[in-house]
Amino acid sequence: MSTPVQYVKGIGPRLAEILAAKGLKTVDDLLHYLPFRYEDRLNPRSVAELRPGEMATIVAEVRNSGLFRTRRMPIFQLTVGQGRNRLKCLWFNATYLQNRFQAGQMVALYGKVEQDRDGELQIIQPQFEILGDIYEEGGADEAEKKAAASLEIGRIVPIYESTGQGKLTPRWFRRIIRWALDNLGPDGPDPIPAAVRAHLSLAAPREALTKVHWPDAGESFSDLQSCRTPGHIRLIFDELFFIELGLELKRREQRARTGIAFQIGAGARESIKKILPFHPTTAQKRVLKEIVADLQAPFPMRRLLQGDVGSGKTIVAFQAAIIAIENGYQVALMAPTEILAQQHYFSARQILEKAGYRIVILTGSLEQDRKRAVRRHIAQGNAQLVIGTHALIQEAVEFEKLGLVIVDEQHRFGVMQRLKLMQKSDEERVGTGLRPVQAERSSAAAEPDVLVMTATPIPRTLALTLYGDLDVSVLDELPPGRTPVVTRAVTDERAPEVWDFVRKQVTAGHQAYVVYPVIEENEERELKAAQQMFRQLRDKTFSDLHVGLLHGRLDPDEKEHIMREFQRGEINVLVATTVIEVGVDVSNAAIMVIEHADRFGLAQLHQLRGRIGRGAAKSYCILMYGGKVSEEGQRRLDAMVRTSDGFQIAELDLELRGPGEFFGTKQAGIPSFRVANIIRDRQLLEAAKREVAFVLSGPNQEISQAEIDHALKHMRTRWALSYGLVEVG
Ligand code: ADP
Ligand code: MG
Repeated sequence: MSTPVQYVKGIGPRLAEILAAKGLKTVDDLLHYLPFRYEDRLNPRSVAELRPGEMATIVAEVRNSGLFRTRRMPIFQLTVGQGRNRLKCLWFNATYLQNRFQAGQMVALYGKVEQDRDGELQIIQPQFEILGDIYEEGGADEAEKKAAASLEIGRIVPIYESTGQGKLTPRWFRRIIRWALDNLGPDGPDPIPAAVRAHLSLAAPREALTKVHWPDAGESFSDLQSCRTPGHIRLIFDELFFIELGLELKRREQRARTGIAFQIGAGARESIKKILPFHPTTAQKRVLKEIVADLQAPFPMRRLLQGDVGSGKTIVAFQAAIIAIENGYQVALMAPTEILAQQHYFSARQILEKAGYRIVILTGSLEQDRKRAVRRHIAQGNAQLVIGTHALIQEAVEFEKLGLVIVDEQHRFGVMQRLKLMQKSDEERVGTGLRPVQAERSSAAAEPDVLVMTATPIPRTLALTLYGDLDVSVLDELPPGRTPVVTRAVTDERAPEVWDFVRKQVTAGHQAYVVYPVIEENEERELKAAQQMFRQLRDKTFSDLHVGLLHGRLDPDEKEHIMREFQRGEINVLVATTVIEVGVDVSNAAIMVIEHADRFGLAQLHQLRGRIGRGAAKSYCILMYGGKVSEEGQRRLDAMVRTSDGFQIAELDLELRGPGEFFGTKQAGIPSFRVANIIRDRQLLEAAKREVAFVLSGPNQEISQAEIDHALKHMRTRWALSYGLVEVG
């Protein structure tokens, strides 16, 4: 299984390279490159019984073919037949198909059956394989030809996604994978313990692989297409089980480490109550309780706080900070952007300074002298709450006595990236890459507690998996008094109306955001840009109002200045890019206009909209679009208008983009799941978690230590290969 693909018959160094780019490096990888669909060429549909609208596989004989030119484009037409019945296939712009087919050849076709204007059946652009070629390509002697043909017809045939600019066709994969399967060495013991296999009636690994690629004739076709055959289930469970096992071990190992057991004294209780500018929601109370339990526990906290935009995470973080400070420890609060760090700094001062806590901000824009002074302050323990950007605080800041680290808006990191971050910090024996509390000052080298906050709503079971090594708290309730944001999608031809509306709202005392996808016009043609529109809005449309501009390329001083003006209500209309996407909180801002809204991602739109509707005033989000909107863009806009429920939006986003992109695994450049799809396979995921708990509960009549050890060993190899994380558990 671990043999490099290069040694498979028919794959040389050049093809091996193409495969490697697809993440297929070993025979094991190759065998887990599963068909994305199947064609039933054992019981193909007969042309006579085809119905318009169905997806069908047809095996038929080529009657004639040819290219004809219309005024608009060349069209290639193929007619196939079975006895007296005929079926027409069309491909547009397909001059390359000329001379591909010869009368009398057998072809397999797959596509959607339609009726043409005369009521005749046809398939537009079907996928096809010329079965007649098999005999020519098959090999030297008759037996080899027969064997090759048997892979293509008279059975359920696996269809693989072709790759390598079409060089590696489904047929190529069929032959290669068949060869690899036929030449596999003997199986070792099954890495999944017998009891677990029995609980789920799992197929044996070899059998699973064979049948997923080469299904038996009697296999349910719909189970195959939906990846629900016993073979699929075994392979998917395999993957999920060993990931869960790794994460669970990591979690247990974290619990075995030395943390700080914070005390919740009267002082802390008093302070927590005193600082609250409002009554906490039930969800906030529950979440705080969970955090407090972690803070009191003797192991380091690793908790994820999940809450939709505006659910009030900040105040919960401040409450946790108070407990650490009251215990004589320092707290670091890290934000992804400088603007956000600034904002936390303002609210921390408003809320916490009256309790007498010493708060500092450490940002890149501070002057060198000031930075040095702040660092000294932190090193001497004078600063109790340190706020800054991730980069800044991680950069070797020395704390006198760091007890709690809060990471805000963690969703900016991909999940694998986060795993890597944690791994790096594990090597340094600290929570986040920050220096540990100095040994001579506290009794043991205790690790700080870590609270990670994210606004990405992820269904709970998924969160538990993706962040399987973290405990998860969910803020699933918005503070009272919010009126839902009214969202409308309008074409940009109605811009004058929109600006009139903005003006009315501003006159009524509210503030507005106007968001653009790019900063400058030349970045992407045809897109209106923040800078140009800022000038137009400032000089013409709203010449009597105060219009500000905020984007990522301004220098930090200027950004801060503008944010402050907006916060104080001095700027009426803030023209911005997505820099405001994360966390910015100005409750008087009640209108948001997003131009080219169809160009933004769904999660991004949701985050942006989360910037308004934070006060009591009725808020409006206007999504403007112009020109040709893609189908997906349209679906995103529709979703935004329809709902403001973050979980619903997350699910749709997942559907539109696929789990890989959604969770940022692709951006992180790390392969996502090979066979599992955590949305489709939720139930198997639950089962995997259950079985992991069973295995880790230790040997009993059902399971032996040897089996457990074997499973753990397999898991370590898997993790090392797939995630580059060697040191799990
Ligand atoms: P997020 O979870 O998106 O970070 P914030 O912490 O910024 O949300 O909170 C959003 C707004 O709601 C802030 O203005 C905050 O002061 C306010 N808020 C938070 N909790 C409550 C509450 N229990 N009652 C009323 N307002 C609250
Ligand atoms: Mg926030």
